[in-house]
Amino acid sequence: MRVCVIGAGVVGVTTAYLLSRAGHEVALVDEQAQPALGSSFANGGQLSYSYVAPLAGPGALADMPGWLFRRDSPLRLRYRMDPSQWLWLAGFLRACRASVSRASTAELLSLSYLSRDTLHGMLADAPMDFGLSRTGKLIVYRNPAQLEKAAALVRYQAAHGTDQRVLSRDETLAAEPALAGMGTRIAGAVYTPSEETADCHRFTDTLFHRLRRAANVTVHMDTRVQRLRRERGRIVAAQTPAGDVQADAFVVASGIGSRTLLAPLGQRAPLYPLKGYSLSVPISADTKDVPSISVTDYERRIVYARLGNVLRIAAMVDIGARHADVDASRLATLRRQVSEAFPRLDLAGAQAWAGLRPATPTSKPLIGNSRAASNLWLNIGQGALGFTLACGSAALLTAQMNGDALPIDAAPFQP
Ligand SMILES: Cc1cc2nc3c(=O)[nH]c(=O)nc-3n(C[C@H](O)[C@H](O)[C@H](O)COP(=O)(O)OP(=O)(O)OC[C@H]3O[C@@H](n4cnc5c(N)ncnc54)[C@H](O)[C@@H]3O)c2cc1C
Repeated sequence: MRVCVIGAGVVGVTTAYLLSRAGHEVALVDEQAQPALGSSFANGGQLSYSYVAPLAGPGALADMPGWLFRRDSPLRLRYRMDPSQWLWLAGFLRACRASVSRASTAELLSLSYLSRDTLHGMLADAPMDFGLSRTGKLIVYRNPAQLEKAAALVRYQAAHGTDQRVLSRDETLAAEPALAGMGTRIAGAVYTPSEETADCHRFTDTLFHRLRRAANVTVHMDTRVQRLRRERGRIVAAQTPAGDVQADAFVVASGIGSRTLLAPLGQRAPLYPLKGYSLSVPISADTKDVPSISVTDYERRIVYARLGNVLRIAAMVDIGARHADVDASRLATLRRQVSEAFPRLDLAGAQAWAGLRPATPTSKPLIGNSRAASNLWLNIGQGALGFTLACGSAALLTAQMNGDALPIDAAPFQP
């Protein structure tokens, strides 16, 4: 079958790769000149297989009033005269119910474990260098009550096969001495030895170059899909300024851009951009205070990952931001918070970046056949976890398109 995949971010490229490995003829289309220049460019680098609990949950409801009135809050909400924002927020509030959030956590865990296994299988078949490192992950808590809540979640996740340990302050500092600057402010941490980090841009770019060399793949960069043309219930072409791309099946994996492609077809995509920021700090062997383990400063929602000669720091959720430009005041807040936690880290050469997470209210991606056309497939809405979930999402979609036995239950992700 000839398949057209729209979007060369981490989700689209991984999907194109697995479809091409399954023997399909693939056309990959993106409006940018290079892959992974959207949300997949300089993200936090976390392959957080065990940390997939949705943003919406009873904890978010409790934290939100405090967050909304603090200038240095990890979350900023700007109300817009925009029904898509109101619908998304209403869905988010509904998803905060404990029963919904628990069910979503279990469903996302099944997808993230599939992702881990798929990625490791891909690497066993054909090794790749994209800075993958099994550093483990420390979620550091300042507030003892939050640590206690986290301990309860550790007990719940243990039932789903997750190996995690709750550490005291001293155990945390012994595990990661670079946290000394936070010293007595630390209550403790949750340590997950199996978590990995890697460079999402390098991963996507490496797979993309493999695709470029494959005999059954054509790549159309700098090519914006303006419209998907539907005739008699089937998509017949992706219309671009360079002409139509024809295929037997079409996969929309266009991140936040998916909304514009799907709306004219009547396929509602409950996606909203959650803007986030990152800093890439050059480091060397002598740089002081650089964590070796991947660290999350829970209260501030800041993640730190060592990716080769760069420390990647990512944070913040801005709801209602229209563009992926770097907001100077948010960046200044992030820099100040990083310097408080790691006083000896030199941020002078840090590169700032902002991206739009393509998020659904429940944090669950939409993976499967669209109701708008029999040959239209979606792989969208991975939100804050697109790198972590990309390989599993691609494997699940490929199995559905092939009519193979499904590796996990697809129902929770059905568009
Ligand atoms: C600050 C930040 C930190 C993050 N940290 C992590 C992390 O640590 N771990 C993790 O797992 N995830 C993380 N994420 C989330 C992750 O980066 C995203 O979920 C992921 O990049 C989404 O990938 P995507 O392929 O769906 O979208 P994108 O990477 O945005 O790709 C979509 C592509 O579609 C193309 N496109 C759109 N419309 C069209 C069109 N009409 N025609 C042609 N092409 C089109 C775009 O050009 C783009 O290349 C983070 C995100 C942010 C912003």
